[in-house]
Amino acid sequence: PGKKVLIVYAHQEPKSFNGSLLKIAVEELTKQGCSVTVSDLYAMQFEPRATRNDVVDGLNNSEVFNYGMESREAYQRGCLSKDLVEEQKKVQEADLLIFQFPLYWFNMPAILKGWMDRVLVPGFAYDLSKPGGLLQGKLCLFSFTTGGTKEKYATRGDIRYLLWPMQRGLTQFCGLKVLEPHICYAPEHASEEKRKEMLTAWTQRLKTLWKEEPIDGSPEWYFK
Ligand code: FAD
Repeated sequence: PGKKVLIVYAHQEPKSFNGSLLKIAVEELTKQGCSVTVSDLYAMQFEPRATRNDVVDGLNNSEVFNYGMESREAYQRGCLSKDLVEEQKKVQEADLLIFQFPLYWFNMPAILKGWMDRVLVPGFAYDLSKPGGLLQGKLCLFSFTTGGTKEKYATRGDIRYLLWPMQRGLTQFCGLKVLEPHICYAPEHASEEKRKEMLTAWTQRLKTLWKEEPIDGSPEWYFK
């Protein structure tokens, strides 16, 4: 009770399987006494492009634009665009971040990747001179659905390989501890009964989520 959860959700359709997974997480975590915030990226029409518009008070160097440098300095001056400031505040307040999305081309949908690119700016999420990331003390969990079945993923390469850029390259780099991913394989090709089972499994997992240990996050976890 009292924990703060931010769910960053990337699906266009509330009636989708991802929409159902979101609804379950909001209901179950609220029932536990957590305070839950949802960033519904498509509904917000979240801007995924990292551009000059993210700096509101003029650029340090408008002749040659460098997004990393400009966003870091704008963060320090308090001059990032309003949508980014709002998202950063949600991240700052959260004990746990859940990313809920369908797998697109072995990765997260572009709108969610854009959220990562624009919200996790240097100075806020990481600082190259301070190894370990600036978001330490927080947890995150990647919850996603696939088109491919579990069997296909088992024979064509371990799905953990896909998690290396998302978890290791991104959230672990920023200091977040990572819980086991929650993967619902091929809901479109599953029977109604199997889909219900997958939704129940998510509810069950959420019930004991706060007792879970994070993954060790070593290269072996991903590529053993
Ligand atoms: P939906 O189609 O919304 O849901 C599946 C079914 O569940 C529907 O019939 C829905 O009505 C039903 N449902 C919803 N809620 C409930 C409920 N409460 N109870 C019972 N049934 C319910 N897949 C891969 O594996 N690898 C890839 O690289 C990949 N790349 C892609 C790239 C793109 C651009 C796109 C569009 C798809 C890609 N896919 C890929 C497939 C994609 O990951 C799946 O289509 C997606 O994960 C399915 O999730 P959904 O929420 O959209 O399912």
